[in-house]
Amino acid sequence: MSGMKSDVKLIDESGKRIDGRLFNEMRPIKIEAGILERADGSAYIEWGNNKIIAAVFGPREIYPKHIQDPSKAVLRARYNMAAFSVDERKKPGPDRRSVELSLVISNALSSVVFLEQYPRTAIDVFIEVLQADAGTRIAGLTAASVALADAGIPMKDLIAGCAVGKVENTIVLDLNKDEDNYGQADMPVAIIPRTKEIVLFQMDGDMDYQEIKNGLNMALDASMKVYEIEKEALKNKYIKLAGGDSDE
Ligand code: UDP
Repeated sequence: MSGMKSDVKLIDESGKRIDGRLFNEMRPIKIEAGILERADGSAYIEWGNNKIIAAVFGPREIYPKHIQDPSKAVLRARYNMAAFSVDERKKPGPDRRSVELSLVISNALSSVVFLEQYPRTAIDVFIEVLQADAGTRIAGLTAASVALADAGIPMKDLIAGCAVGKVENTIVLDLNKDEDNYGQADMPVAIIPRTKEIVLFQMDGDMDYQEIKNGLNMALDASMKVYEIEKEALKNKYIKLAGGDSDE
């Protein structure tokens, strides 16, 4: 929904954005792993004003049976926005956008999970957006990757990402809702931190080659920060399980 023209001033004379951030600042991120009793793995993330839960079930028997794969597990992520998560009530149920996001998130997660270790099974990942403020696909993917690790499912690495975009001809990190709405472009990026392989890369709006290059570098740096927060969340869960003190 980028690319809309508007008179809203998104960056002031001193270079501050509407929420006070500089061009290269991310919103604050908090992640908690292992928050749901009945899931095999789970995580809750607050990323700026986004609030999202991810729950993982499996590897488990797959239904419908005919979609099973004799050589590997099928990882199915379902991205869902609660009706109350956005300003204008979101009609419940899947729509074009959520089907697309579920697919790109499933593909990204499939690139790190050792699916061939669990042939004929399903690994189901539910992403429930409770409050949305732009950047939910990356925040949801982040929570999902922590939830998979929390489930003890063998993975090459976590996935970490961050969106960048263009606002008033400036490349900025981690757009909020107003910047996404009234800015010129939005480019979500996610990587496998250890190898720097890109596993999600999309763009809505227009950026030229140099802008994409700058933006990509900013997104990669930010992803490495997100990676540290993810690992910290997993560590904190085990400190709690062991009865020790966590940071809280
Ligand atoms: N949004 C909304 N209603 C919708 C879909 C999206 O208000 O039906 C808002 C929501 O805050 C979301 C933002 O628009 O986070 C940007 O959506 P986009 O499709 O760019 O995905 P995201 O940035 O969340 O990954």
